[in-house]
Amino acid sequence: MTEWNAYKRTRRRRGLALAAALLLLCILGAAAFTKAPHRPHESAGRPVHGALVAYSPGYRVSLFGLERLHPFDIGKMDRIADQLVDAGLLTKDDFAVADEVPVELLEQVHDPAYIRGLRDAETLGRALEAPVPGFMTPRMLDERVLGPFRRQVGGTVLAARGALEHGVGINLGGGFHHARPDMGHGFCIFNDVAVAIAVLRSEGFDGSVLIVDTDAHQGDGDHAFFADDPTVFSFSMHQESLFPSPKLRGDRDDGLWGGVTDAEFNGRLAEHLDELLAEVQPALVIHVAGSDVLNDDPLTGYAMTPEGLVERDLKVFRAAHDNGVPLLHVLAGGYGPSSADAQAASVAAMLEALAD
Ligand SMILES: [Zn+2]
Repeated sequence: MTEWNAYKRTRRRRGLALAAALLLLCILGAAAFTKAPHRPHESAGRPVHGALVAYSPGYRVSLFGLERLHPFDIGKMDRIADQLVDAGLLTKDDFAVADEVPVELLEQVHDPAYIRGLRDAETLGRALEAPVPGFMTPRMLDERVLGPFRRQVGGTVLAARGALEHGVGINLGGGFHHARPDMGHGFCIFNDVAVAIAVLRSEGFDGSVLIVDTDAHQGDGDHAFFADDPTVFSFSMHQESLFPSPKLRGDRDDGLWGGVTDAEFNGRLAEHLDELLAEVQPALVIHVAGSDVLNDDPLTGYAMTPEGLVERDLKVFRAAHDNGVPLLHVLAGGYGPSSADAQAASVAAMLEALAD
């Protein structure tokens, strides 16, 4: 009997070892055979009615499907681009396609030790607030996660140049406003707006910049980057009770309550814009235009509708454009089912306004 029990125990152990080996093989197989991320060729794009729109399928992060566990809708940018093309507002060849910005540039804008630390899966997972599998090598992390983010930063740089050159620049990605000089959090690892401003400065642009952040979360990263820079004014309207906590103090903050309606939000925004344009006299307005203000967003508490979001974006667009000030528009956060449609409608409304 004892021998029989020992035999059963050995068999059970062998069975478990076999199952574990099979599981490991499956994971390694998936890693080996999952298609590497799309690496498109750069393109300067073509401005449409004075707006340069940057986008690339290479913006998409790929963590073997684990990225779907994060509330951020990773396919949102692709659907917005498709809707703009389907509506006949631009063609696929009109999109400006960015290359990844070089790591050296990120190390000049951010703390270099922070940038180097992102090659570690655990550190990166903390910044992204998403599970990053431990079996991913630094090269896989670079190709599938850091590279797509560097390309979105590149898109914001192209759109910023497009804004100065043509009047309006739109990136169908970017808006990583939580990334601070030495820290990433809230799904933001590189601060694309800070990088774009640094690039414009290096190219001779020395005008005042007004950041208008209407994402439902405070733009603490932008506040941190420009706290001591008198040439960049960082303004954030956000839901006070949400991440990040505690808040950082910006040049101006308006902490709102849950349940804010379209009329309440847009009324306050109009007042802020009037005052800020007079006070800052910007030579560039940057709108960090998150769609997590929508009432079906799972992470926030406003009562705003897609129509209210379009009105918000047109308010900022008109405040800049009607006063002859270049506008850079980036999409930032947005996690609800109506997010992609609402942001596509807002970009379409801006392009249609330019066409009139
Ligand atoms: Zn947000």
